[in-house]
Formats: sequence, C-alpha cells, structure tokens
Amino acid sequence: MNIRSAPRTLAVATTALLALGGVTACSDDGTAGADPQRVDVVAAFYPLQFLAERIGGDAVKVTNLVKPGAEPHDLELSLGQVGQVVEAELVVLLKGFQPALDEAVEQNAGDRAFDVSTVQPLRDAAAGGHDHEGGEHGHPEESGKAEEPGHEQGGAKDPHLWLDPTRLATVGDKLAERLGRADPDRAADYTARAAALRAELAKLDAEFTAGLKTCQRREIVVSHTAFGYLTERYGLEQIGITGLSPENEPAPQRLAEVIEEARKHRATTIFFETLVSPKVAETIAKQVGAKTAVLDPLEGLSTDGGDYLSVMRTNLATLRTALSCQ
Ligand SMILES: [Zn+2]
Ligand SMILES: [Zn+2]
Repeated sequence: MNIRSAPRTLAVATTALLALGGVTACSDDGTAGADPQRVDVVAAFYPLQFLAERIGGDAVKVTNLVKPGAEPHDLELSLGQVGQVVEAELVVLLKGFQPALDEAVEQNAGDRAFDVSTVQPLRDAAAGGHDHEGGEHGHPEESGKAEEPGHEQGGAKDPHLWLDPTRLATVGDKLAERLGRADPDRAADYTARAAALRAELAKLDAEFTAGLKTCQRREIVVSHTAFGYLTERYGLEQIGITGLSPENEPAPQRLAEVIEEARKHRATTIFFETLVSPKVAETIAKQVGAKTAVLDPLEGLSTDGGDYLSVMRTNLATLRTALSCQ
C-alpha cells in the first residue's frame, strides 16, 4: 500500500486514514505509541536515526522511515508510516530532503517535529562545488558553463549536512535539547550523551583533517553531489556525475564532461554509492582508465552494517588511497 509522494495524493490518503477513525486500525508496519516508558521517535533517514539512538539511549524507541538498503531521497510513505508520524512523540527530519515526509509532518505533526535544517544555515547547492568560473583550476575555457551539478536547482540548498561531523555534532546538541523538552526528567542524560557523541565526532573530524592534509590530488568524481559539506570542510573538490539527487541516467553531455574532468584531474578512482547502481561510474572509469570504489554518502546503511562512525572511517581510508595522501 505504497502511496505516491505527490502532496495531493498524500493529503487524500491522510484524510482517508483519519476517516477510518484511528491509525492503529490501519498500521501495517508499526508499533508507534506502543511503549509508554520510552519516547517514540520517528527518524527520517539513517544519520538522523543514528543521532536519535546515540543521544536518546534506552530512553527512546527510534523508528527509521527508510527501509534498510533503500535510497531515502524519494521516500514514499505507506499508510502505516503516516500513522507512525501521527503518533510519534518526536519526528526528526530534514526539511527539503524528502517532500512526502515534509507534507505528512506539516499536516500531522507540526508541533512534534524537529527540523535539523534549522540548526545551522544550509550551504547553497552550487556553492563550493567544482566550479571553473574565473579559471582557478587551470582550464578557464570552461568558464560560464551552466551544466555544473546543482546549478539546475537554482537557489536550492544542499541537504547532506551529516557528512561534516562537526555539523552533525551541533545538530546532536540541539536534538538533546529538544528531547529534553519532550522528556524533562531525563534531560540531563540527553545532554550528557550528546556531549559524549560530540567528543567522538571531534575525534573523527581530526582524523579526516590529518588524513587528507597532504595528498597528490584533491578532486573526487562522485555519483551524486552529496559530498559538498565534506569537501568544504577538508579542502577537497567534488565533481558530481549527477546533481543533488541520485539519478541512474545522467545526460550524455554531462557524462562527456565528467570524463573530460576526470582526465584533466588525473583521477585514479571513480566513486559510486552503495544504494545506487555502479554502472555509470564503471563506464566512466573504463573510459579514463581508472578504478571504481565505494564512497558512501551514508544516506542509508548498506547491508554490510557498521554505523556512521565506522562507515566514515572506511570513507577516509578510501579517499586517502584514491588521492594518494601521505
Ligand atoms: Zn543525496
Ligand atoms: Zn576541473
């Protein structure tokens, strides 16, 4: 009973759901509201689940709306999941990332929502991307191009803030405050766990800073432009095969441009993602004589398991190899 994410369809579905006289009657994949001892938290996708679980500890019960192995950009909500949003004590989301959820929250959970995009201003989709205007990269013949990833979204914001560990830590502190308001008796516990997580994220950040300090190359060719916060933080440049959302079929012209870019920057590795087909990355790699490797944007956990911290450390090792870092 999946519902298309078009706002109108969702609105109709929500109305139908409420007309049934209660969400539990129709809840096909949920136990929302079932545990009176714990705060029921609905998380929009993996990094927010990670934050809620680490900061909430055993005082919360966290439900991730994205099934393991699924790609979260195009989340569609089942009636049961709309029911979970209706019943949740706190919904943690990133507004603008998953339109179907934005709509469901607006209609059903406005006062119980924590929108992590409000914690710090998001970066512009086009800012800090791989941009040759002004010729700062030594091939000014490309200046003025309109096809750079992100440009087509005109004024769009980049949602992928979790790939900067220091930003994630700041979101964690705010989430602890919000949980403390929902559950005042345990507010001090939430604050303490957020501080402990901040320390772990600071350590990760220091490892990235040191590990990517001295490298032969600083450009990374990635499947979608998810890495803007990471490249900004650690002084790298991303060249995205597609824009802010994953697509399986980039335009042939974009493909040709990326191949040219990869050659110019002598890329030895073309990165692909665990949740998206590697075909396009493999095509480019073959053209330029590079290898492929996984660089995980952590939009969901792959079946290999691990958690945010371990996957980020794997990403760091992969980057160090690909960029020939000391
Ligand atoms: Zn993404
Ligand atoms: Zn370039």
